[in-house]
Amino acid sequence: MIVMKFGGTSVQDAKAIDRVAHIVQGRLADRPVVVVSAMAKVTDSLLAMGKAAGGGDRKTALKMARALRERHYDTAGELLGTALFTEFHGDLGADFEDLDELLRGIGAVGEITPRTYDYVASFGEVLSSKIVAAAFTARGLPGAHVDSRQCLLTDSSYTRAVPQFEETNERLRKKVQPLIEAGKVPVMGGFIGSNRTGITTTIGRGGSDFSAAIFGAGLNAERIEIWTDVDGMMTTDPRLTPEARRIKVISFDEAAELAYFGAKVLHPATVLPAIQKNIPVYVLNSLNPTCEGTKVTARAPRCTNIFKAIALKKKITLVEVAAPRRLLVRGYLKSIFEAFDRHEIAVDVVSTSEVSVSVTAETNEAIPALAADLAKLADVKYEGRKAIVCLVGENLRDTPGIAAKVFGILEDVKIRMISQGASEINLTFVIEEDDAAEVVRRLHHAFFAEVDPEVFA
Ligand code: ADP
Ligand code: ASP
Ligand code: MG
Repeated sequence: MIVMKFGGTSVQDAKAIDRVAHIVQGRLADRPVVVVSAMAKVTDSLLAMGKAAGGGDRKTALKMARALRERHYDTAGELLGTALFTEFHGDLGADFEDLDELLRGIGAVGEITPRTYDYVASFGEVLSSKIVAAAFTARGLPGAHVDSRQCLLTDSSYTRAVPQFEETNERLRKKVQPLIEAGKVPVMGGFIGSNRTGITTTIGRGGSDFSAAIFGAGLNAERIEIWTDVDGMMTTDPRLTPEARRIKVISFDEAAELAYFGAKVLHPATVLPAIQKNIPVYVLNSLNPTCEGTKVTARAPRCTNIFKAIALKKKITLVEVAAPRRLLVRGYLKSIFEAFDRHEIAVDVVSTSEVSVSVTAETNEAIPALAADLAKLADVKYEGRKAIVCLVGENLRDTPGIAAKVFGILEDVKIRMISQGASEINLTFVIEEDDAAEVVRRLHHAFFAEVDPEVFA
């Protein structure tokens, strides 16, 4: 069997879902399990509704919920035709009633907790998976909706719950395997799960890729296909430069580095369950289904280019903690990182010198409070509007003089931090966000003007 995951843009409207049905139709012989994201932008808007309700603005929240209801009804109506839609309407309607009630409840309390955020966010994938399953049936495909929350067991760390693999796999074998064997095409929402008491959880933003990998690993898939809106993993975000090329083959390690540093085409965690079972992952384009996409495998073939790709992560804050001599005091670094942990701020790049410890994190509302906390330990400065550029390639391991080449091209650019990861396959540095697009274009032009035809398209 195979897993086919379709992202938000691939299910964004009736036309897109119709394309999905065609693509799945063409793969029936491979016995697909289909995993879908919420329709494009739906998760953002659900979270905004939750926030509005929690802030006491129930009216706005309910107004947004109405718009969401219309969008889903319109899509389902267009896909199913009147007769089928009339039949299906009640099911969707019940979910929207639940959502309204939930928002009213949040409004009444005037507060939203992570647990409630997860429940609100889950509606996106619950709705999209039901609509896609119904659309399959309407097109003669044997679609069978499966509520992923009954399969994906997680712990209770709401908003980024941790999957419990063993029990999840057992549930998959019980609930999904028999459907596949009966010739059905199970359709499941990504991103959502539940804890042991049945409370809805989510596994982190962009988590539908992760769900696809978990289901694929649990069901021993022959391959996992991640269908998105670009031709595959590219040498850089194609929105940054039209010179971006498709990468035909990339290693799991390279893909993981890229994903971590902003190439959001693939969720970082996705590759883990797949690596462990040696299941190949393909990134494919639902708008251009005949394109071969990118194959992600345990080992990449040799490549004459030094780098495979350049990732860019914006909206970064640089936190500098002064450390004159204190760095040598036992426990000093630990107390700095404990402060990040207490404020639940994830750290990206770290460097230390005799006078300071520099740390980058995604810009977020908790940083001022973190800085206040750190100020108890030492002098602290923080600056937003930074970006992380990350060059990735297995050849970095054994090619001398690369840093000189890279920074030679960027002579006039203010570089704030440099780090060559322990994985030895990435070269990462921090710059001003305003310089970021130009820096990526310049590096891309320098390192990908000529490409190895075995590896790049
Ligand atoms: P989906 O909704 O299918 O999950 P995402 O929006 O999460 O899709 O990821 C696809 C997007 O990732 C693309 O539209 C592209 O702009 C962006 N992207 C960033 N870096 C890369 C890269 N190196 N290769 C391909 N796409 C990239
Ligand atoms: N819908 C979720 C999100 O937007 C999960 C996903 O699309 O992968 O984060
Ligand atoms: Mg995604």
